[in-house]
Amino acid sequence: MQFKDLNIMPEILRALKNENYKIPTPIQEEAIPVVLSGRDLLGCAQTGTGKTAAFAIPTLQMLSGEETPRWEKRTIKALVVTPTRELAIQIYDSFNTYGQFTSLKTCVVYGGVSQKPQEENLKRGVDILVATPGRLLDLMDQKIVNIEKIRILVLDEADRMLDMGFIHDVKKIIARTPEKKQTLFFSATMPPDIAKLAAKILKNPEKIEI
Ligand code: AMP
Repeated sequence: MQFKDLNIMPEILRALKNENYKIPTPIQEEAIPVVLSGRDLLGCAQTGTGKTAAFAIPTLQMLSGEETPRWEKRTIKALVVTPTRELAIQIYDSFNTYGQFTSLKTCVVYGGVSQKPQEENLKRGVDILVATPGRLLDLMDQKIVNIEKIRILVLDEADRMLDMGFIHDVKKIIARTPEKKQTLFFSATMPPDIAKLAAKILKNPEKIEI
């Protein structure tokens, strides 16, 4: 199995070639077709399995072809929520790498640093936002970020968000997303609270365990 067998668009295949990615990892092989089919996904996978590309590649592809005309402001179409600043930056880098030949714009926000530069970036318009929960809620409360029109929601490392005490914030974030959207839910483990949340928000999900 090669990436080109997964119906990945040429712009992304070119980026993968640039990065010297030859074959998809098992989670990529399983998750990419599910996401491209528009279905919700429940992925049980650890970091290091190629999980980031498994959601970033098909997310970029689902959004491309719907790029905002140059004269219009971009609105957030996909939101990735992840527990830590390090993960947020890694995911942001991945979207930029795999999407380097698309015209989609990704932005990252996280706490512990000044909000101003993040705010400036957001004002220029964003297609894909990668965020940690606390800073995202702050920006939403200040009406700097609006997630009411997102089409794809990715929850990354849900079990870690629970452990870090973010579950309430995550639920608040989910409550402000539109009902009609595609949700990709990733967790390394499935403790009862996480299984309950997944069951509540996912619609007929495809389950993938790596
Ligand atoms: P992740 O599990 O998403 O944190 O990815 C782990 C590492 O594997 C990252 O450094 C990726 O750049 C790399 N990687 C992901 N998918 C592939 C692939 N198909 N081929 C080669 N490297 C990959």
